[in-house]
Amino acid sequence: MKRIGTPVEPPCLAAWRDEHPDATWDEFRNENRDAPNGQRGCAKEVLETLIHAQRGLCAYCELSLREVPSHWPQVEHWHPKDPAQYPGHNWGLDFSNFMAACEGGEKAAPDLGRSLPPIKKTKHCGSAKGNEDHTAVLLDPRRDVPQTPTIWRFDPNGGIAVSPDAPQAHKARAEQTITLLNLDSPVLRRLRKQHWIELENDVQSVWEELGDSEEGYRSAVAKVTAERLGLSPEGRLDQFWSTSRAFFEDIAEAWLAEHPEVFA
Ligand SMILES: [Zn+2]
Repeated sequence: MKRIGTPVEPPCLAAWRDEHPDATWDEFRNENRDAPNGQRGCAKEVLETLIHAQRGLCAYCELSLREVPSHWPQVEHWHPKDPAQYPGHNWGLDFSNFMAACEGGEKAAPDLGRSLPPIKKTKHCGSAKGNEDHTAVLLDPRRDVPQTPTIWRFDPNGGIAVSPDAPQAHKARAEQTITLLNLDSPVLRRLRKQHWIELENDVQSVWEELGDSEEGYRSAVAKVTAERLGLSPEGRLDQFWSTSRAFFEDIAEAWLAEHPEVFA
């Protein structure tokens, strides 16, 4: 979980909500699908706005939100949206309550390595969080996660833990966030371990290109750091961004000090 930006609400959602103040999220989504001629519906505009603000990453686990085209990512409601359980405010249509999240390890097919049986134990993100109100104990990636220092520690086996260097004020909620969102799920650990190996291979192959010297190694690390942490021309970030940040350690922190745009 990295610090993410807060997007501006699409006017089409505000207009629909004005007309249907008590409607549910499902009603909004069903009535605002893409038109048969392919014209984008407001439901997709909402989701794409969130994905863009999050630089293409799941707000919780940092999986890429376009790798499974047949399973469009979910609009995650930070505060539960059930009007029967939480009357008084329509959380289902409150844009400030939305984030984009991955499928949470729920989908077994197509198998791109993003789910692992038993699903009940390995699911994560919104799927693990369920409909409980955890807003007081979870870290909110839009407000609570600091840009610096990083509050997470990753290991070469893909495990995530709270960094001993995390600010004291964040530690208890960071622990709860890992537990309640199951961010140390075996399926995420497996994917982050693969990511770690990719980073090692990237550095190795760029080092070989640049020459087998200490100078060449430093240049290779600097080059791969910028590639892995920087924004693509489309404004997206590489998945498992915080794992890359941990991998490159001080080089990453020095690079980030010059590139605050990755948090906006
Ligand atoms: Zn996720």
